[in-house]
Amino acid sequence: MRSKLVAGNWKMHGSLSGNQGLLQAVRDGVKGNAAVAVCVPYPYLAQARAVLEGGSVAWGAQDVSEHAQGAFTGEVSGAMLVDFGCRYVLVGHSERRSFYGDTDAVVAAKFTAALKAGLTPVLCVGESLAEREAGTTGEVVTRQIDAVLSSSGVAAFSSAVVAYEPVWAIGTGRTASPAQAQEVHALIRQRFARDSAEVASGLQILYGGSVKPGNAKELFGQPDIDGGLIGGASLVAEDFLAICAAA
Ligand code: PEP
Repeated sequence: MRSKLVAGNWKMHGSLSGNQGLLQAVRDGVKGNAAVAVCVPYPYLAQARAVLEGGSVAWGAQDVSEHAQGAFTGEVSGAMLVDFGCRYVLVGHSERRSFYGDTDAVVAAKFTAALKAGLTPVLCVGESLAEREAGTTGEVVTRQIDAVLSSSGVAAFSSAVVAYEPVWAIGTGRTASPAQAQEVHALIRQRFARDSAEVASGLQILYGGSVKPGNAKELFGQPDIDGGLIGGASLVAEDFLAICAAA
């Protein structure tokens, strides 16, 4: 049996004063067996560490540079994230892919850099609404995964997590049905199984896209859904904790 993971993605939200209560409530309120993490904006990593250190909730970032160091103004390296105690980092979130030019090749390079630094990358994949309507979901998701597999190899995924996030479900209130999500999760696992049955069976594949307390249990009950990547609902302690409890 794979263990479950619930990771919050705060996106570009928060303030030093507002975060304090949210982080403390998550630290104090987390129950159950699922691992829990919050991926916060860079300036709040020190605060996340100060509040969460010594507890059961891990923290991480939402992006990482593909470079180890150097003249890359504005970028943040994996080693810097490790300096702040990060365990996880998102790579290839659809907002990075669509607004900031993170191509499959860039995502693959960021994935490698994260692993090299000792972080657990959470590789985000997912199709747009147009791609789903065109019937190309499997093709798109496989292409996004193959880009990383061909540069890092399947063994890298024994230290990584995959998040399936249909773009049409992120922040829209429109969730993939448990059956729709399960279908893609199974396809993702089969793709990994082609390269390694062992890696595939141990791989945590999270679902993300408008997960709420009311739909989490059914989604997380699907055989290939190993938890969630939670955007909007991770900003409300009560909702996030209810989702963690559902896992
Ligand atoms: C996300 O930001 O990765 C996400 C899934 O957002 P939401 O839960 O708000 O749809």
